[in-house]
Amino acid sequence: MSNCAIVGINWGDEGKGRMVDLLTEKYDVVVRFQGGGNAGHTVINERGKFALHLLPSGIFRNGVVNLLGNGVAIDPENLWNEMEEVMSQGVSLTPENLKISDRASLLLPWHRDMDELEEMRLADKKYGSTKQGIAPFYSDKYQKKTVLAGELFYPEELRQHLYDIMEWKNLTLTKVYGAKPYTKEMLEEWLNTYCEKIKPYICDTGAFLKEQQENGKNILFEAQLGSLRDLDYGIYPYTTSSNTTAAYAPIGSGLPSAKINDVVGVVKAYSTCVGEGPFVCEMFGEEAEELRKNGFEYGAKTGRPRRVGPIDIVATKYGVEVQAATAIALTKLDVLSYMDKIPVCTKYLVDGKETDRFPFPVALKNAQPVVEYFDGWKCDITSARKWEDLPKQAQDYVLFVEKQIGCPIKYVSVGPERESIVIR
Ligand code: GDP
Repeated sequence: MSNCAIVGINWGDEGKGRMVDLLTEKYDVVVRFQGGGNAGHTVINERGKFALHLLPSGIFRNGVVNLLGNGVAIDPENLWNEMEEVMSQGVSLTPENLKISDRASLLLPWHRDMDELEEMRLADKKYGSTKQGIAPFYSDKYQKKTVLAGELFYPEELRQHLYDIMEWKNLTLTKVYGAKPYTKEMLEEWLNTYCEKIKPYICDTGAFLKEQQENGKNILFEAQLGSLRDLDYGIYPYTTSSNTTAAYAPIGSGLPSAKINDVVGVVKAYSTCVGEGPFVCEMFGEEAEELRKNGFEYGAKTGRPRRVGPIDIVATKYGVEVQAATAIALTKLDVLSYMDKIPVCTKYLVDGKETDRFPFPVALKNAQPVVEYFDGWKCDITSARKWEDLPKQAQDYVLFVEKQIGCPIKYVSVGPERESIVIR
């Protein structure tokens, strides 16, 4: 038995979905343990191209059981829409291959409104939320003002619980934001249209995982976003509202006794960041536009252009530490093939001093990138399948990054397809 977590090392969008899709071959169960539908994993395989938001990336493999753990924000509406879309592309989703934790809290209809209303109130001080209701959801979860998925099996108690929360939430909606209140009829519609659809998939996933563990099955924990978006270790307040780190996987999955043997940290060969907040290595102007275009860096959920920059060694080294990564997957190396010289942000300059330590979030605004350049390879590397197939300049780049971040780069991806990978 061997457990593995696949996590993001940077700001998210590193290509975790494609790594889970690739590595699920060796695993029996794939579990999402945090976050919600606010980010997207793009997976391209023999079945087509899929943008997953809430569903685990193991749903394409026959025999793999996919779980949404108790740490996930279950949005019945978004989840059901996503399930319908994936099923319409020929993927079978049944209570046998998809299980939702009865202890996961439900993202309620007003959470998305609250997200939108608060971003509007903040105006130019907004966080850059994806407006999927994730921050209001997690704050309500910790205030104990949401309901557990398993409560759907107790309709009477559920309704009373929901009405009590609605009464409380309507105070904020109407008195603070001047918005319309929710009604029992609206909740009823939500329950019937979406919650009833996902109900057959809800079960005691903790018991299921324990049984899998006892039977020596291999479990893969799939994270959303990356280290720098972790609520406790990231660039607060420009973080997400959950823990994106591997250490949270046992808690958020429903198997607190799980030991994680391998942590595969996913790093992009350059940097991208969606939304607001400090991004020290950011490139601007034409240089940025060219990288964005070559990497097709537009958000999977929102279509927003991503901010781009060279690989950031300072942030990546910090991300590796936070995740306790045991191996790295360096993705999208092929995107850099057009560059004559490859920029690398090797250090930060903070208050006139060079440092390789990732600063405290507030101090990031005073940091400047120190950029060094490496020779480009200027040729198509998308057909490389072995280390020897990569040009020397590409090998040198990978080896330099590996040395700087102090963690072995085991996988190098050179295209979005499942097989476009070099395994060292
Ligand atoms: P995730 O949220 O970490 O799974 O990342 P995203 O799915 O948001 O972003 C990764 C994007 O890069 C997806 O569109 C992938 O299809 C694509 N991708 C992944 N690996 C590679 C690669 O090696 N080369 C190229 N060109 N694209 C890749």
